[in-house]
Amino acid sequence: MPSEIPVKLPSGYVEFFSDLESWQNEQQIKLQASVNINIIEDALRKISKHRRPLIEITGLEVDSSLYRQMLADLLRFLVKQRPDIKDSLVALQNKADDFDYPVLINRLLEQNRGYFEELAKASGLSPELLIFVLDHALRPYLRLYAAQYQADLMEHTYHHWDLPAICPICGSKSHFSRLRAEDGRRFMFCDRCFAEWETRYLECVHCGNDEPGKINYLSVENDASNQLYVCENCRGYLKTYDERPTGMPTDLFVANVQTIYLDMLAEEKGYSNHNDDWSLK
Ligand SMILES: [Zn+2]
Ligand SMILES: [Zn+2]
Repeated sequence: MPSEIPVKLPSGYVEFFSDLESWQNEQQIKLQASVNINIIEDALRKISKHRRPLIEITGLEVDSSLYRQMLADLLRFLVKQRPDIKDSLVALQNKADDFDYPVLINRLLEQNRGYFEELAKASGLSPELLIFVLDHALRPYLRLYAAQYQADLMEHTYHHWDLPAICPICGSKSHFSRLRAEDGRRFMFCDRCFAEWETRYLECVHCGNDEPGKINYLSVENDASNQLYVCENCRGYLKTYDERPTGMPTDLFVANVQTIYLDMLAEEKGYSNHNDDWSLK
């Protein structure tokens, strides 16, 4: 059962993200049939040795013309879903022929905000919208790439990765974790590439603090599953879906959107998720 949301989100907000995720899942399945992504041997050892996300070490080959097609399809999907911002989407559509795709794809992989700010300025577009659309068009590729390492990540990341708030595959910042139903172990979730990796149950993912009593737990009434873990050392917080009360997994991508009230609660109490997301400055 979805939890009752104490803060009212704009109508259709959660549904939009849920539909976007479904659309991306379909694209990923189509890609899987047509694209061959090489699997990297000893991937976890590599990230551990370099202390960098896998994609930064190996790069990712993305065919420019396939990506352009993905972007065109995503824009059509978005125009249908979000008629309220149709004009901005059409403006982006009109500029899309001028972009240098091989460069643009690499800048997306690097999460290079400066490049997209310049591009937005030169094209008369909003940088937030530009990054949102271009990055979401890349995500089916990132998810296909990340899926190859998922089983390994679940088992072994703990010993290979000491930057728990950063995705060891795509390098994106994570703000969401789950506690597994069967054993309460904590797994971080990347909403960009869908990788999951284990981190210690009681350790701040931002600063590494594990002092007893300095990590606290907040939840809202009538909602045992969605929780906030807050750190008194760095005043950081982490949203968490605990599978144990219901015994059920949930869609973590949607849960992250659904629990914006927890972000608001945390910020109200003076905590921060230390958001240095490249897409949201
Ligand atoms: Zn990721
Ligand atoms: Zn901390």
